Amino acid sequence: MKKISADLILPVEGEPIRNGIVIINDKGEIIDLQEQRKNTKSSDIEYYEGIIIPGFINTHNHLEYSYVKGLIEPGQGLPGFIRSIVEIKQNVPADKEAIEQADKEMFDLGTAAVGDQTNTLITREVKSKSKIYYHSFIEVYEAIGEINSAETDFLHAKTYLAAYEYQGSITPHAPYSVGPELLRLIANEAFIKKTPVSIHNQETQSELDMFMYGKGELFEFFHNMLKPQSWIPSGTSSLEWFLPFFRDSHNLLLIHNTYTQPRDIMFALNMHSRLYWSMCPASNLYIENRLPHIPWFQKMGCTICLGTDSYASNTSLSILREMQILQESFEIDFDELLEWATINGARALDIDHIFGSLKPGKRPGLVLLQGIDIDRRIITPDVAIKRLV
Ligand SMILES: [Zn+2]
Repeated sequence: MKKISADLILPVEGEPIRNGIVIINDKGEIIDLQEQRKNTKSSDIEYYEGIIIPGFINTHNHLEYSYVKGLIEPGQGLPGFIRSIVEIKQNVPADKEAIEQADKEMFDLGTAAVGDQTNTLITREVKSKSKIYYHSFIEVYEAIGEINSAETDFLHAKTYLAAYEYQGSITPHAPYSVGPELLRLIANEAFIKKTPVSIHNQETQSELDMFMYGKGELFEFFHNMLKPQSWIPSGTSSLEWFLPFFRDSHNLLLIHNTYTQPRDIMFALNMHSRLYWSMCPASNLYIENRLPHIPWFQKMGCTICLGTDSYASNTSLSILREMQILQESFEIDFDELLEWATINGARALDIDHIFGSLKPGKRPGLVLLQGIDIDRRIITPDVAIKRLV
C-alpha cells in the first residue's frame, strides 16, 4: 500500500483536490482519494510537486510502424504518405527492437492503454509482455495487393484476432480501401460481439474528390491497384458513404477527421450514437500540415479522444504533446483536454471500468506532471512527465 500526494490531484471524474492523497495498493488499484489538512506532513506519504493525473489513453497508433521513424518525408499529403509506407514495407525489414523501444517510451510517457491498428503479427510478443494494455484493431484493407474475396480477408483477420488472444477487434482501414461486402462483415461482427471499430476518416481533401467525383490524387493512386471500373463514386463524402454500414454497431472511433465539415459532423451524430472522434494532431501536421477544426467538434457535442498515430507520421508518441498542440492552436482548457486524453479514450475502447480516471477500484496508472503552473495549467515544452505507478 502506498500513499502519494502532490500539489494538485485531477481525478478526471470528480473535482480537483489540492494537496490530496491517493492511496493505492501493490497491484496499482486505487483504494481511496483523500483531502489532506494543510501543513501536516506525514512520513508514510510520498510528496511530489506538480499535478497527479491518471494514465493516458492513446486511441490510435500503429506500433508495427515504429521502425519507420524518420523515414518518411513530412508534408507529402496522404497519397504520398501511403506511397512511401507501401515502399518501405516492401524494402525495409521490420525491426522488433524499435517496437519494444516504442512500447517502453509510451509507458514512460504516462500511457496506460493503446488502441493499436495492426495488420501483421509482429507486435504480438511485445504486447503480451507490456505494462501497457493494448486493444489490437486488426486492420483489413483490400485495395492494395492481391484481390481476395471479402470472406477470405475476413477469415484471415479472424486468425490474427485469435493470435492477439481476442484482446481486440476487426476493423476496416479506411472507406477508400475496403469495399461494401467486407464492411458489412466487419460491421455485423462488431454488432454481435459489441466490440469497438476504428476507421481512418477524412484525412485528405482528395478522399472527398474520390468519393464525390471519382477523381483526384487519392483516386489516381488507387486506380492502378483496383480492378478496372470497380470504383463507382458515391457522390457523397466518404463518411456519408461508409457510416450507414455501421449504423447499429458498437463504439465507432473516427480517426483524424482533418477535413471533416460541420455537415459531416451533423450527419454522423444523427446516424450513430456511440461515436468517438479520435484526433491525432501531430500526425495531421506531419502528413497534411493541417489540423481538424476542433471548435466545430466541441460546439456540436462530439466526444473527442486523442491518439499519437505511429512513428511513421510522428516524432513522438506522447499524448501530452498532442494535448499541447491542441491547447496552443485552439486555446482549449487543460481539464477538457485531459478528459479527451483519459476517460473518453477509455470509454472508446470499453476499458473505463479499469482506466481513464482516479476512482477507487480502478487501476488507471498514476502520472505526475512537473513544471506546470497548477492553476493556469498551460502545457509548455518544459512540462515533464514522471510515471509514478
Ligand atoms: Zn493510422
